[in-house]
This record gives sequence, structure tokens and C-alpha cells, in this order.
Amino acid sequence: MCPTPFRSPIRVSEFFPYRGGELHAEEIAVSRIATAVGTPFYIYSAAAFAAQYRRFAEAFARERPLICYAVKANSNLAVLRVFAGLGAGADVVSEGELRRALAAGMPPQRILFSGVGKTPAELEAAIDAEIHQINIESVPELCRLSEIARVRGRVAPVAIRVNPDVDARTHAKISTGMKENKFGIDLGEVIAAYSLATELPGIEPVGLAVHIGSQLVDLEPYRRAFVRVAGLVRELRANGLAVTRIDLGGGLGIRYRAEDAPEPTSYARLVREIFGSAGLAMTFEPGRVLAGPAGLLVARVIYVKQGAAKRIVIVDAAMNDLIRPALYEAWHDIVPVRLPAADAFFAPADVVGPVCETTDTFAVDRDLPPVAEGDLVAFTAAGAYGAVMSSTYNSRPLVPEVLVAGTRFDVIRARPSYDDMLSLDTVPTWLSEVSPAPARKRGAA
Ligand SMILES: *Cc1c(COP(=O)(O)O)cnc(C)c1O
Repeated sequence: MCPTPFRSPIRVSEFFPYRGGELHAEEIAVSRIATAVGTPFYIYSAAAFAAQYRRFAEAFARERPLICYAVKANSNLAVLRVFAGLGAGADVVSEGELRRALAAGMPPQRILFSGVGKTPAELEAAIDAEIHQINIESVPELCRLSEIARVRGRVAPVAIRVNPDVDARTHAKISTGMKENKFGIDLGEVIAAYSLATELPGIEPVGLAVHIGSQLVDLEPYRRAFVRVAGLVRELRANGLAVTRIDLGGGLGIRYRAEDAPEPTSYARLVREIFGSAGLAMTFEPGRVLAGPAGLLVARVIYVKQGAAKRIVIVDAAMNDLIRPALYEAWHDIVPVRLPAADAFFAPADVVGPVCETTDTFAVDRDLPPVAEGDLVAFTAAGAYGAVMSSTYNSRPLVPEVLVAGTRFDVIRARPSYDDMLSLDTVPTWLSEVSPAPARKRGAA
């Protein structure tokens, strides 16, 4: 393939500017952080989190909704503290996330609990913490919660999560609102479930919840889901049932590549059009849109291999650190930390990690400027569903997370040592008492 000359300027965002040809996070050179903490690592901009939150909140200035940041997008305690400081609540999907939200100082009255498989222990923890709302996704879960609340002499505020049977037109693996998906209660069964909730002890049904998927870049699926939910609210009320709250979920997409992600203001206009006069207290559960654009994953090039068919750039980050490309065929821009010369040529390359899996591939035939061993590169829009989805596959340590605010940076999760990692395993005593079996000769009986 012919190399193509360098055309458009490489750009990330105002929070990750190039200064003097060097990528910065706010006021700090990314290379300086790389020297301090080693690669790979995640880096977040506190100002970018704040800007994303404010853009969302200001779009709904009229409604003044409860904005429950979806903790699963990025659950680092320091990140949660940033959002708590901005006035956000938390949407949690496990007891671990509930504990994180509380530990980060989120008031329980701003925490809601979602998820299709909350265990009895998790429901108990939610009731004991006296959180704002528990979103119920099935009749068996409703009955279980009722039992637990009754025994504890408590009344749990509950929203029924509706499965509106709408195609979110996002990647199939992050679509949640079709009837064949595991999420929520089917449209036709919501009224019965809601009536049951009014009769069960320990339960106070307050409204409906809906969340149709993630990385939505088209508002039309939202419209179809919201229209159905608004119809259900009218129907419930016509049946004499009280509905005071509506939880419209998360899912708003961001720009990874060339998507035209909707502006929060257009989304707000749609919400207003459908629910404007319903007299409902509103809740949102945004995750990706608040955290995604605020983070980078920084890696170092280990080798550049000129294969028979193509150039392969091997970096020290892998699918265990950022799994989205392997899991969802997701795109992340890959930018050099030091800008190439103005007349540098772009040429296609595959960018891969060291893990022993073919899917450990971040990009195929990506137009990249020249990169050499030792160079730093950054994967953009990695603030959501990055570090939280990482694992230690291939016994690779979890990568550190760094938070930048202006001219300071802090490690907000340290890289574990190999000793820390090995100490999690236990060899049973019966194994240490047995000496290794002698090797058998080939062909021996
Ligand atoms: C994952 C999830 C969210 C957040 O989704 P984003 O796409 O990150 O905004 C919100 N609500 C529920 C119920 C979820 O499962």
C-alpha cells in the first residue's frame, strides 16, 4: 500500500492538548507521567469529567433531575469523589459498587440500585443503606425484596424496569431493550407487576425505569422507548396507581470515531417533549458520556514488526487492560504522544498487545504516523469501560490509574506488585507434601 502524506492535524480534546508537540493531560506532559508511573497506565482529566457532567446537567437545568452516574463505567473512588463533588448521585449494579459509592461520599438518598440479578445479600445491603431507589427487573426479585424489607421492618422505594422492546441500534452486545434481552419486565406485564408491588408489604412502588442500551448515537430508539413508557405511566394512573418518578436510564453515546453523538441538549428536548407535562421527578443514569471522553490509556511501543503482509506495532497494553476492541469491535483513536514531523507519512499498521490471543488486537490497517520502539501512544476516549473491565489475564498486573487536575497528578490506583498478585493464590498443604512424580519414559505403561 502507498504511504499517504500526513493530512489532518492530530487532535484529542481541549483537556488533552498538544503543547510544543507533546501530548498533555491538562497542564502535565503525558511523557512525564509515563516516566513516573511506568506504562501502560490510564490517565483521567478531572476538568474533563466536570465539563461532561456540567454539559449534561445544564441541558436539564429546567427539570433538575437526579443524575446518578453509572458507577460501572469507571468506579475508581477518586473518580466517584469528583462526581460526588459535582452533585451527582450513583447508579450501582452490585454491593461492591454500592460500597464504593458510599465510601466516596455519595449520599444514600442519591444512590439507586439497578441490575437483573441482585442477590438477597445485595438487596439487604441496599435496604440497610436506605438508598433512594431499587430498580426491580422481575417479579421473583420483587417478591424477594418484599420478604427482606418486611423482615427488617422497612419499606423500599421501588421502580419497575420496563423492557420496552425497542432496538437501540447500537452494537448487539450492548443492547438491552429488546424483548429477547434479559433486562426488565415485558411491556405487557408491567401493569400487573406494578399492582402487585402496591400490595406487597415492604414495597413502595414509585415509578418506572428504562434503559435500552449503551453508546446510542441515534435519538430515535430513545423516542420509541420513552413513548411506550409514557403510555404505561398514563395507563398506571388510569388504574388508580400512583406514579411519581421516572428513571430514563443512561446510554447516551460519545464520539469514538466519526459518530455524530447527540448533544445532551437535543436529548433533553426529546425528554421534555415526551415527559414535560407528566409531573414526574426525573432520574438519569449516564455513565459513558460523563467518563469516556475524560480518559486515555497510555502505552509504549515494544516492537515494530514488518511482516510479509503488513506493519505490526506491538504495544505493552493488551486486551486485559482495554477489552472493548476485543469484546465489541470497538474503535479507539490511537495517537502519538509526541507529534510526528509536519511532513511525516501515514501508513497502515495493525496495533496489537502481547497477550496470546488473536483478538488481542486494538486496530487493523490503521493509518498511523511513523512509530518506533520506545515511543508512547495513547488510546483516546478510554475513561469509561476501560480500567473497570480490566483483568490480570496472562498474569499481567492491573494497570495504574492517574488523575490529573491542572498542574498536579496523583496515582489513584497503584499497579499491584507481582508478590501481591501471587499472594492471592494458595497451594493446599497436601500438594506441598507430595514430591513431584518422576517423569515416565515415553511408551511406558
Ligand atoms: C450500563 C448502565 C447504564 C450506563 O450506561 P452508559 O451507556 O454508560 O450511559 C445505566 N443504567 C443501567 C441500568 C445500566 O446497566
